[in-house]
Amino acid sequence: MQALTNRAQAVNRKPMTIMEKLYLPSIAKGMGITFSHIFKKQPTIQYPEEKRPFSPVFRGLHVLNRDEEGRERCTACGLCAVACPAEAITMEAAERLPGEENLYREEKYAARYEINMLRCIFCGLCEEACPKDAIYLSETFAPANFARKGFIYGKDDLLIPDPTKDPAGFAAAKGEGQ
Ligand code: SF4
Ligand code: SF4
Repeated sequence: MQALTNRAQAVNRKPMTIMEKLYLPSIAKGMGITFSHIFKKQPTIQYPEEKRPFSPVFRGLHVLNRDEEGRERCTACGLCAVACPAEAITMEAAERLPGEENLYREEKYAARYEINMLRCIFCGLCEEACPKDAIYLSETFAPANFARKGFIYGKDDLLIPDPTKDPAGFAAAKGEGQ
């Protein structure tokens, strides 16, 4: 039958020699390659017991920041939501009432603040857009979840611990003392 192209290759069908039939040289060669790797440093990381150090520019889970008096910094200006290319951020603003000065730093605050982690691409533009140092991306992963709803993070999930009540948690969330 005529070949469709001129790329056909002739197959070498010469009979195997005795050494080739024994397979011993090939087995010895394979074992040599295996043993040569035994004493080399293993590149495998035994996650989760062992963790790879993050890059200095790693961007992980978001944290809503507080000031040193424990007041929420976010003033619900919406700049982070506007900057977000994935439209992952939604919020509702509320006015600070008399007596709430110890809770919210500004006269307006985010009564509801949500980030959809399934939309987020962890670009960090929300952090860059924020004029109040109210949001930053930490060195933590968003943990796995079986339900889509579990990936919508509200204020309860995002707010940093209050430094006046939990200074160790606040420092840890800031990445201090690591
Ligand atoms: S990291 Fe990027 S994609 Fe994620 S919420 Fe912030 S701006 Fe949006
Ligand atoms: S996190 Fe920053 S940019 Fe976003 S609404 Fe709050 S103050 Fe504005």
